[in-house]
Amino acid sequence: MIVGIDLGTTNSLVAWITREGRPEIIINERGSRLTPSVVYFKNERQVIVGELARSQMLLYPQQTVVRVKRKMGTPFRYSIFGREYTPSEISGLILRKLKNYAEAYLGREVDQAVITVPAYFDDNQRQATIRAAYLAGMTPVKLLNEPTAAALAYNLHASGENNLLVLDFGGGTFDISLMHFSEGLFEVMATGGSTELGGSDIDDILVRYVVDAVKEAEGIDLSQDPVALQQVYFHVERAKIDLSTVQETTIVIPYIALSERGPVHVRLPLSRERMNNLCAQIFERVESLIEETIERAHLTKDWVQTIVFVGGSSRIPRFREVVQRLFQGVPVTFCDSLNPDEVVALGAAIQAGIIEGRIREVELRDILPHSLGVLDDQGNFVPILERGTVYPAVASRLFTNTRDDQEEAIVEVLQERDGGRLISLGNFCFRSERKWKRGEANLEVVFHLDESGVLNVSAVDLDTGRTEEATITGGLWGDGGGIDFPERRGPGLEVL
Ligand code: AMP
Repeated sequence: MIVGIDLGTTNSLVAWITREGRPEIIINERGSRLTPSVVYFKNERQVIVGELARSQMLLYPQQTVVRVKRKMGTPFRYSIFGREYTPSEISGLILRKLKNYAEAYLGREVDQAVITVPAYFDDNQRQATIRAAYLAGMTPVKLLNEPTAAALAYNLHASGENNLLVLDFGGGTFDISLMHFSEGLFEVMATGGSTELGGSDIDDILVRYVVDAVKEAEGIDLSQDPVALQQVYFHVERAKIDLSTVQETTIVIPYIALSERGPVHVRLPLSRERMNNLCAQIFERVESLIEETIERAHLTKDWVQTIVFVGGSSRIPRFREVVQRLFQGVPVTFCDSLNPDEVVALGAAIQAGIIEGRIREVELRDILPHSLGVLDDQGNFVPILERGTVYPAVASRLFTNTRDDQEEAIVEVLQERDGGRLISLGNFCFRSERKWKRGEANLEVVFHLDESGVLNVSAVDLDTGRTEEATITGGLWGDGGGIDFPERRGPGLEVL
């Protein structure tokens, strides 16, 4: 059966569509709905994933992997007990854990999944996620953009047209997506935010607050004691969460250290206002990142009709106040009735239900945000998949060579951004087995964008059947990243 998986930076979740046709979060063997995306290597052969791994993190940092999502699609390797692991292998271990507990809960095999990825994930990151799923023994039937999943969970596709701002404020990242929805089509207009901003930054500030207070009162530096520090992290996070519902709390940590006078206990009052002041810079950054993303998309705040809150940290009252203030006077609808930790997984389950044919009333398709094509010999961009193309899609164009005795042609894969800016996504060289006369070759360049948004480019010599395929390394999604392509040299191709 197909489940929906939110493979998150901090936590992961699995959901399915019940017999009654409702999306539901599957609880793990501890009875929790969230499973920390943490992998702890106990020894060469034993691996622990989830809550238990999280509690080992500060004690055994060399054996514990956190936030692997940030490394997906990079050449980074984790070296543990003398063995190297790719980020896909680590994510594969997390996915295997999710698969196992989903199977235990459902009492049947789970071999297919819809897995969510940030809208800005590039081709490499998507491919790495697909590899992780296969390593876990699952076929990834679709990679779904996280903001699209959130919109699905809120049933926003029920309305004819909608302009959405999806704000996903999680443990370690703040993802902003601007999306337009119309007649079953979701278009990601722009993405922004920061991969270095989230609830854990608030925890860091509160830990420093406690460590400073203990140093001042007792002369003891808790930051030197990893076990004590782990305790402090645990308790400040709890206090932060409490302050989302109450105005005042007290951080109480008994027996945190031993001084000459005996055991040391922490008993530190903390108000919501004090926390807001300590973290003022974080909220200022939240505000400026939202404004920047809207500006970069050449849109204005009144373009936004609906704001969707996603991610555990979006529950923080100051976060919501900042957003509400920013949109004061703009008639927006706030989507905040669902649990923000769970909306992405619920949306993934709905997508799984659509694929299984169990949810019929929606047809959901994503569309390409920028045109994709190649460069001809004159340095012109030749589009092959146009912006707005609904995918999965296949398109091709026929080219020929431009010079006598030509033996190779460079296929330069480009993305055309707004204003005609070209971004190189990668290239490959098609080598012929013979020398072409000018205009002799019949070379078909095929772009295949699959249902997960993964692009495969191939060139086929129609006379010999010889085929070369591209490895695309650039970002296909959103507006961040990518390498400018200033040098418009001729790669020896001409459109036929
Ligand atoms: P996520 O990455 O979406 O799973 O979000 C995890 C982050 O949300 C962690 O930093 C949590 O401490 C934080 N979080 C979860 N619930 C709350 C809450 N009620 N108030 C404030 N922060 C929360």
